[in-house]
Amino acid sequence: MSAAERRIETVRVELGARAYDILIGDGLIGAAGREIAARLPGARAAIVTDENVAARHAAALAASLEAAGIAATTITVAPGEKSKSFSMLEEVVDAVLAARLERGDAVIALGGGVVGDLAGFVAGIVRRGMRFVQMPTSLLAQVDSSVGGKTGINSPRGKNLVGVFQQPALVLADTGALDTLPVREFRAGYAEVAKYGLIDRPDFFAWLEANWREVFDGGPARAHAIAESCRAKAAVVARDEYETGDRALLNLGHTFGHALEAATAYDSARLVHGEGVAIGMALAHRFSARLNLASPDDADRVEAHLAAVGLPISTGEIPGELPGPERMLDYIAQDKKVARGALTFILTRGIGRAFIAKDVASSEVLAFLRTAMLPSGAG
Ligand code: NAD
Repeated sequence: MSAAERRIETVRVELGARAYDILIGDGLIGAAGREIAARLPGARAAIVTDENVAARHAAALAASLEAAGIAATTITVAPGEKSKSFSMLEEVVDAVLAARLERGDAVIALGGGVVGDLAGFVAGIVRRGMRFVQMPTSLLAQVDSSVGGKTGINSPRGKNLVGVFQQPALVLADTGALDTLPVREFRAGYAEVAKYGLIDRPDFFAWLEANWREVFDGGPARAHAIAESCRAKAAVVARDEYETGDRALLNLGHTFGHALEAATAYDSARLVHGEGVAIGMALAHRFSARLNLASPDDADRVEAHLAAVGLPISTGEIPGELPGPERMLDYIAQDKKVARGALTFILTRGIGRAFIAKDVASSEVLAFLRTAMLPSGAG
């Protein structure tokens, strides 16, 4: 079947010599061998995946590569954030070297953002840089982490502190692979989809308000939402590959969200990243309204949509105790987006009108947190 027959959408990430295509559609795992062989002729491959994804999708990928004459070895890591570690990096690097792969061969990341970040870093450093293919299987990875070239692992001192920019040669987002994703993970990825509407695509946000059920159900609406998200991210990345300016807009909801993740010790039973982002986006809109930058009606609208899809919108929804507002401010100040003591936030003038606000007074943030962190029903 041709790409057109299978309704594959292509989004181009315009990065000059490092430009690449993102292919989005159902069945791309089965078509991967042909797509990769066409772009990286003669390459051999190492598939890096995690146990959950391996059980469901690795055999189909291996068969597709074999049918296209691509010799491949599979390296499987434990699922979860803990695999973004120095010890796992060493294991995967060793396995790639043991397979005698060369610089022109490919590391293929088959999995969520954890696998993509780890495998991309491996591809960036083994033999000073190998070819890299992203095959994202979580919604978050399809709309966010597989696009843009950020890769890396965590340090005991914090998340994502060690890594390289390593753009993939190709991204293959098989929308059908999302059928096996747990719904909580799908929702968490959806927070990032909504984020693109809230940053600068108000029409897309309105479309999501009307069509989110179809996005969750699969089919053309899901593929459209993913493609639109990739277009949004690709546009920002093309403007600012190394995050010296505009790319920071992608952090909408993330300053509050990262603080909440840190405050819950990255315990995914309590909070996963996208849930933190959802609460963070609700707070960023409410904070913007408090600062008279945006209408409270917009904050209401954001909360109503996120709540409708089942995402949390307030800190009171996180199970267990949270630190108080003062301690939360400390977590915010530790976030890497703090430049020389001034708090940098992504704030908004309304739906689809986000902007980078430097020098936000910490006293304002604290006063806001004191009202926003009241347990629900208490204020
Ligand atoms: P993840 O990789 O841990 O995947 C979530 C869970 O879903 C895991 O248990 C995984 O095994 C499982 N899974 C994935 N695909 C599946 C499928 N098709 N069927 C069944 N189970 C499946 O987490 P994630 O949410 O995909 O990514 C989070 C990571 O991404 C974090 O480490 C974060 O730092 C990183 N990230 C990176 C960037 C970037 O630009 N590089 C951007 C955002 C997030």
